[in-house]
Amino acid sequence: MGVDRSQLLAETENLETDERSGAIAKHSNNSTRLQRADFPNRNWTIEKSENLYRIGGWGEPYFSINAAGHVTVSPQGDRGGSLDLFELVNALRERNLSLPLLIRFSDILEHRIERLNACFAKAIARYNYAGTYRGVFPVKCNQQKHLVADIVRFGRPYQFGLEAGSKPELMIALAMLDTLGSLLICNGYKDREYMETAMLAQRLGQCPIVVLEQIEELPLAIEVSRSLGIEPMLGVRAKLSARGVGRWGTSSGDRAKFGLTIPEIIEVVDRLRSEGMLGSLQLLHYHIGSQISSISVIKEAIQEASKIYVELAQLGANMKYLDVGGGLGVDYDGSQTNFHASKNYTLQNYANDVIAEVKDACDERNVPVPMLISESGRAVSSHQSVLIFDVLSTSGVPADLPAIASDPEEEHPIIRNLSETYKSISVENYQEAFHDATQFKEEALSRFNFGYLSLTQRASADRLYWACCKRILEIARQQEYVPDDLEDLEKIMASIYYVNLSVFQSAPDSWAIDQLFPIMPIHRLDEEPTERGIIADLTCDSDGKIDQFIDLRDVKPVLEFHPLKSGEPYYLGLFLGGAYQEIMGNLHNLFGDTNAVHIHLTPKGYQIEHVVKGDTMTEVLSYVQYNAEDLVENIRRRSEQALLEKRITLQESQRLLQNYERSLGRYTYLSP
Ligand SMILES: *Cc1c(COP(=O)(O)O)cnc(C)c1O
Repeated sequence: MGVDRSQLLAETENLETDERSGAIAKHSNNSTRLQRADFPNRNWTIEKSENLYRIGGWGEPYFSINAAGHVTVSPQGDRGGSLDLFELVNALRERNLSLPLLIRFSDILEHRIERLNACFAKAIARYNYAGTYRGVFPVKCNQQKHLVADIVRFGRPYQFGLEAGSKPELMIALAMLDTLGSLLICNGYKDREYMETAMLAQRLGQCPIVVLEQIEELPLAIEVSRSLGIEPMLGVRAKLSARGVGRWGTSSGDRAKFGLTIPEIIEVVDRLRSEGMLGSLQLLHYHIGSQISSISVIKEAIQEASKIYVELAQLGANMKYLDVGGGLGVDYDGSQTNFHASKNYTLQNYANDVIAEVKDACDERNVPVPMLISESGRAVSSHQSVLIFDVLSTSGVPADLPAIASDPEEEHPIIRNLSETYKSISVENYQEAFHDATQFKEEALSRFNFGYLSLTQRASADRLYWACCKRILEIARQQEYVPDDLEDLEKIMASIYYVNLSVFQSAPDSWAIDQLFPIMPIHRLDEEPTERGIIADLTCDSDGKIDQFIDLRDVKPVLEFHPLKSGEPYYLGLFLGGAYQEIMGNLHNLFGDTNAVHIHLTPKGYQIEHVVKGDTMTEVLSYVQYNAEDLVENIRRRSEQALLEKRITLQESQRLLQNYERSLGRYTYLSP
């Protein structure tokens, strides 16, 4: 649908409009698209960089660009000061913190928690909702100790709690949560030990609610409660028929992995009643998947869940809580649409819809409204971290013309044809010229394979082809509409930017599920980025690359970069990666955890609250059972042998051993 998404930008997220949601435009188009070069060199401005990288869309209110052309961070949103990210990175490097470096801004986390709670408070006031909101953070989104500790600390004024989805997460939540009155939601599959531990936590003054995910957990819960003499707080997770869409669409529906079907929920009620324990059943939970892009899906789910809630109350359960799970989306591409990398609603829309729907359903049947719980993980933790990495080198497509014989008759006919095609390219025929050039190039290849074209001639043919592509691309970028068959041109001509990073370790969802994260240079933004390229990482895996980038419409196959300047670093930032990426990251090629720092804004500047050193090679090797000392000993023995046999000098062997030993204690990434 033809709504201009850029117009929508101004209106929503920041202002947190009071309206309940109305769905906003859809993505119109699924194909890749050429980037128009409407950014002439002469008067490049910071605003142009802002538009190009869409930082206003996804970055508000935390990230923007300053007059120096650097990305700035305002960790406290509109209220606080800001930091120059480029200068911060330089200062951290001077403290011996190498790239890649994960920078966490604890103030952003605080701001997110405040904002979530403020939106619910506003919705509650607006709809005269007689209940309260009590959020919990799902620990699985980011289990890092400093982060969980910050969430508990910042959440204290709101009695913000934690949600555990497994036994190890329960261990974290139990030990870390010490806010009076906050909730500890116990999800995930449970064995006796899990169940006992959760129920016993009541005796510590905590509010653990054991959510039954499977019908088999019911007899276990009853038995454990009997043997401990503890009356537990129980919940049921419902399989809603309202379904999420996209990646996590199968998290709900009758065939979903988790939750109880409606007949099973009735079975729980009957059984608890017959055991005299119906008073324990207090919570209804659902979770229809993460990153729900469309508010209509959220509404549909809350409508269905509210109905179930009301019915449960009327069946005699002691209903007090409705837990709407996660799913609150993050606008990765800043488009404010129902595209999978975006969301067509604001936090305030979300809170309003949830509160209003629940109130309507309860009022209708005269059931007291529940305390509302949300388990928003992505929306709370995504913004707080920025991953900074440097570009090591680039490789472009050689598009300069090869030397051609002065007498065209002397050249191979294919080369002649390509050369003539090149000369003929114009605005009138560029599309046709592309087809001609492509055809000649294919012909050149097949002649080469049959032995009729020399390697040198093939090199000339390839270069002429790329020269044609370059010229055609320059023309195509100026056009309002680009024909579909030219859409691959950007990809053909893309440079490769080699970066000091492992996609598998630091942005695993980009590799695993094609998730989009905003990526951009954090400096030189007052300069036109004249290059277009894709990102290739350090791993020896051809999947270790990023070749899809956020765009206003759909995605783009290349990102705009600046040419490297010799002797100067070029820093890129990957933003909004604070949820899920850290723990899902893996050790492919044995690249370990990156260095991480926690930065807190102070009136005078900033304070480095924590430094979490990345893995050393010794640590990474120990995960795969190598003992560093044994390895060194091995090398030592072999160099002694080589010395004996005079294959190595003493000096060489010392150097080798020194390098080997020193490396083991070092970071797994490349040093500058
Ligand atoms: C993953 C998960 C969440 C968090 O979802 P987000 O979309 O990140 O907010 C919440 N609840 C449950 C049960 C989950 O499995």
